[in-house]
Amino acid sequence: MMQTSRLQAAHPAGSRIDNYKEISLIIKKVQDIYLKSYKDKISFVNFLKTKDNYTDIFSDAFITRLLGCGSFLRFRYFFDTDKTKLKSANFCKSDKLCVPCAIRRAYKQQNRFIDVLHSHIFLLAQNWYYIVLPVRHTSDESFSVVFNRLNFLRKSFSMSIRNKKRYTGNNFWSDISGGVYSIETTHTQNGWNIHFNLLVNTSKKLQLVKCSDFTKSWYQSDSLSDWLISHTENNSYIHSINHLDFSSDELIKTNLLEVLKYSLKFSSLSHSHLFEFFSHTYKNRLIGSFGNLWGLKIFDVNFDDTDDDSQFIDFLYYRLGLFYVPLRQTTLQILCRVGKLGGPA
Ligand SMILES: [Zn+2]
Repeated sequence: MMQTSRLQAAHPAGSRIDNYKEISLIIKKVQDIYLKSYKDKISFVNFLKTKDNYTDIFSDAFITRLLGCGSFLRFRYFFDTDKTKLKSANFCKSDKLCVPCAIRRAYKQQNRFIDVLHSHIFLLAQNWYYIVLPVRHTSDESFSVVFNRLNFLRKSFSMSIRNKKRYTGNNFWSDISGGVYSIETTHTQNGWNIHFNLLVNTSKKLQLVKCSDFTKSWYQSDSLSDWLISHTENNSYIHSINHLDFSSDELIKTNLLEVLKYSLKFSSLSHSHLFEFFSHTYKNRLIGSFGNLWGLKIFDVNFDDTDDDSQFIDFLYYRLGLFYVPLRQTTLQILCRVGKLGGPA
């Protein structure tokens, strides 16, 4: 199968591939992720059609793009590094509903963030902290009730950051130079758990207090606790804060995983929960930056890979039903021309 899908592109003269088996395994693994997502999305779209008002949010074009995601996949094998990657696809980019796009956006944002740190060296000299900031919730509350509470908290800390120069004394935000945040959602038997993941930097070393119960220990900041008590009407009164080590790219990446990741634990959500979540968030951005990270375009990522080596070979695949079949470049161009790929190619 691999042989027939081979596309001659920048193929170095005389070179040959010895590890087809390994390349096939990588390609198969990615294809399986897209096929599982496709099946889940078909099931979700069938669920949507039982809802009277679903067309208020989901247009036909949107659904076509969602289902068409990954119907074309281009893999690239690099001779120099002996690596195979998913180079491009007709990504739907609806990362609140599409697991492969959520994973890809998170991965791209992590790489982009590392680039930003290296091009703004002063950021690497800062002290970095990871904060988890949940809001109060009960098992019988709807998503919108908990999400509104979180939006109140978001406005409170946005205002505090904007006004921080006016503060004197022990206000937590007056010491923070900037950061990024993401909003993460899960649903369990305890209801909707929506919380902020914050990655902040400061020139100062923050004073942290160790807390513990029977099962675990974590750190808190007294000044952040004071701020939460006085600014959030008891909607958020607990947090954890950890100092992060940014001394190598590996450590940066590991530490970024918690913040720049997808906004949803998809596996924890039923179709009705996913519908409820999306109905209230489809217009909202669940990630943002502030202070010295504002305007650095951390979230403007290109889904396609652009960092090409000079020596590579491409393998193209087209999804036919619930399988992938190899494809030639000319066939791909024809499919694009007649609009058969269900999304941007
Ligand atoms: Zn997608």
